[in-house]
Amino acid sequence: MAKWVYMFTEGNATMRNLLGGKGANLAEMTNLGLPVPQGFTVTTEACTQYYEDGRQINDEIMKQILEAIDQMEVITGKKFGDKTNPLLVSVRSGARASMPGMMDTILNLGLNEEVVETLACASGNPRWAWDCYRRFIQMFSDVVMEVGKKYFEELIDQMKAKRGVKLDVELTADDLKELAEQFKAEYKEKIGTDFPTDPKEQLTEAIKAVFRSWDNPRANVYRRDNDIPYSWGTAVNVQMMAFGNMGDDCGTGVAFTRDPATGENGLFGEFLINAQGEDVVAGVRTPMHISEMEEKFPEAFVQFKQVCETLEKHYRDMQDMEFTVEHGKLYMLQTRNGKRTAKAALKIACDLVDEGMRTEEEAVTMIDPRNLDSLLHPQFDAKALKEATPLAKALGASPGAACGKIVFTADDAVEWAERGEKVVLVRLETSPEDITGMKSAQGILTVRGGMTSHAAVVARGMGTCCVSGCGDIAMDEANKKFTLAGKEYHEGDCISLDGSTGNIYDGIIPTVDATIAGEFGRIMGWADKYRTMKVRTNADTPHDAVKARELGAEGIGLCRTEHMFFEGNRIDAFREMICSETEEEREAALAKILPEQQGDFEKLYEALEGNPVTIRFLDPPLHEFVPTEEEDIKKLADAQGKTVEQIKTIIDSLHEFNPMMGHRGCRLAVTYPEIAKMQTRAVIRAAINVKKAHPDWNVKPEIMIPLVGDIKELKYVKKFVVETADAEIAAAGSDLEYEVGTMIEIPRAALTADQIASEADFFCFGTNDLTQMTYGFSRDDAGKFLDAYYDAKIFENDPFAKLDQTGVGKLMEMAIELGKPVNPSLHVGICGEHGGDPSSVEFCNKIGLDYVSCSPFRVPIARLAAAQAAI
Ligand code: PEP
Ligand code: MG
Repeated sequence: MAKWVYMFTEGNATMRNLLGGKGANLAEMTNLGLPVPQGFTVTTEACTQYYEDGRQINDEIMKQILEAIDQMEVITGKKFGDKTNPLLVSVRSGARASMPGMMDTILNLGLNEEVVETLACASGNPRWAWDCYRRFIQMFSDVVMEVGKKYFEELIDQMKAKRGVKLDVELTADDLKELAEQFKAEYKEKIGTDFPTDPKEQLTEAIKAVFRSWDNPRANVYRRDNDIPYSWGTAVNVQMMAFGNMGDDCGTGVAFTRDPATGENGLFGEFLINAQGEDVVAGVRTPMHISEMEEKFPEAFVQFKQVCETLEKHYRDMQDMEFTVEHGKLYMLQTRNGKRTAKAALKIACDLVDEGMRTEEEAVTMIDPRNLDSLLHPQFDAKALKEATPLAKALGASPGAACGKIVFTADDAVEWAERGEKVVLVRLETSPEDITGMKSAQGILTVRGGMTSHAAVVARGMGTCCVSGCGDIAMDEANKKFTLAGKEYHEGDCISLDGSTGNIYDGIIPTVDATIAGEFGRIMGWADKYRTMKVRTNADTPHDAVKARELGAEGIGLCRTEHMFFEGNRIDAFREMICSETEEEREAALAKILPEQQGDFEKLYEALEGNPVTIRFLDPPLHEFVPTEEEDIKKLADAQGKTVEQIKTIIDSLHEFNPMMGHRGCRLAVTYPEIAKMQTRAVIRAAINVKKAHPDWNVKPEIMIPLVGDIKELKYVKKFVVETADAEIAAAGSDLEYEVGTMIEIPRAALTADQIASEADFFCFGTNDLTQMTYGFSRDDAGKFLDAYYDAKIFENDPFAKLDQTGVGKLMEMAIELGKPVNPSLHVGICGEHGGDPSSVEFCNKIGLDYVSCSPFRVPIARLAAAQAAI
């Protein structure tokens, strides 16, 4: 018989897949003899089963849950629903990978009108009992029955106004009792039935709600961003309550064994006296620094420090813990490897190596490559920053530099960002529903909340700059304005945030590019030591190439030559070329283009200092390049000595119904060989010049022919490329070597890779087009329907961002298996967008690619991902 429920005493840390991270660690802490309120975990498999059973908890699982409650009653000596010694529990989600704030938690479950009266008398602390009850009604209504939080918050605000107090803690037992009554009435009004009094019914509904929360929209977005499969499900932890809200000798806190923003070794955290856990994480009250706990609860603090040490040594990683102090006694509610900024992750990994706790290889695997992104983005220009005076200082909750226009809601952040605006989202406090808005914003500024508030944790995870807890802001969310440092700010006004110092500035402060140094450099050094796959870059301009080299690129895997015409007035000659009607006209335009291309290629070879450079021949979907503005059309007409009407006729004739499958790639070279010949001359002449200047460099151009689907296409184009190249080399008396290869980006090329390999020196997978053509999804239009695919659970990810290993990947494997035996010296890479996506990089390593190529800023990510794949 399947086992669906485990007592904490039955599990351990290795059972994370089954018990979720929280459940496995509660069991592990129990095994370590730490003070953990006891309870049980309903497994992730039970969650999957719940969905398979049509969102029902089946009888067998229910039976095991009830048996576990019986056992809990024996262990604790308390009874569910009992009038003299009642058992109260928390119900929390806990997936395999931690998803902070994404799913739901219910505290104080087991209370009803009778139990609360008992507790009020027996504890001699009626305020606490009623506080627990009103919190329970509030959470249960919100999480289980989906009655919006705001109704209850409004009632609390009204009550505070009526009593003339500011803080929740100033409300008396009678006030809270009255609130509980109001809450129940609110529940009845919204749901239509009385608030449930039977603790077992409450528990069943709560467990179902946690299972259900696995599928809520914000959890789905979080999973997609963090590569967490839907199929994992979440576990549910039912744990005896420890009370941090029983008076001034009680409290609750969240702490990290090292600073999650900087990585500094030392206890870091926050503590609230007379409060329950949710108050700290939700950011509703701004908590005190953990060091103050030492003064208020000296004994519990000493014990807590010991626990921190034990846990860090045990897990060999920085821990993020939740705990409660009940009448001076410490209880551990959770531990996990703490989320951290990229900067902190690098420092912690290096420190753990230096402290002898981790090996270099382990340190490399501890860094999430996706998080490096935040370090590679611009920082404030130091000089400009020095000259600027901060408006205010709050908590630097997630580092980075952000500047942009102020918006006040998550929806506005999304909408403004979609129209290309850079925005800073300013909120009183954030709630998990704000996640999409937070993603769209350059930075997040909150009025309330500490370092462990939801906004801070989520922003750190996303690598988005966040400044939190700026109490100086007088916020007027309803009217979309706030006042800070005497100035009123409205929607659309500009501000800048420094996520490291917590400083807030008026207007826009200029930013500069980041560099790899210190711990970042050390970790990248280790990554390079352990990886076997090379990392190249997709660079179209000398400027990109220089940046990519700084970031560790070992070659150029793709230079999209058509992109070289985006700068200045270069586009004019390019337009003349595509709008030519005769070979002479085209040759005249090409003659203008040749020196520009040659000059660019020389700079590329210079920047790469003898490392490989793959130059892809023109692949412009023509519609992207023809002029559309009247003024540009006129300019082109004048240059060509034609009328505007004639040019418009040519443009019309270039119109294609399906340009992505139109006259592009090698098809262009087949119809107009003179274009490929010109490019060959530019590539070879540039290489000869640079080789002359640097005889010790291995300058060996790789010419790449795009969109080949048939061996005969490649043969046809290659023939005049080789003739032209050889003639140039001979004329220069040079011994330059070069390669001619192809992109594999049409399914037919993969299917006939054995034939193609007989003509190609190398393959480079163009997985953008290969995905487009394998799925038959237009890469330009898929965004319009992918959301529906996520909602329908057809896709968990965008196949244009994360490689479809099953289908597209199979074509790649097939191409390698067919190609290599025919041409053993064939080298193979990838240059589609997937080349910078960690899970795709892992796959590329597995199938034996020689290199991945990605945009310059993703080079470090790919280096690290390649190392992790090799370790
Ligand atoms: C590709 O198709 O993956 C590729 C790299 O080429 P492009 O994106 O330029 O079509
Ligand atoms: Mg392509």
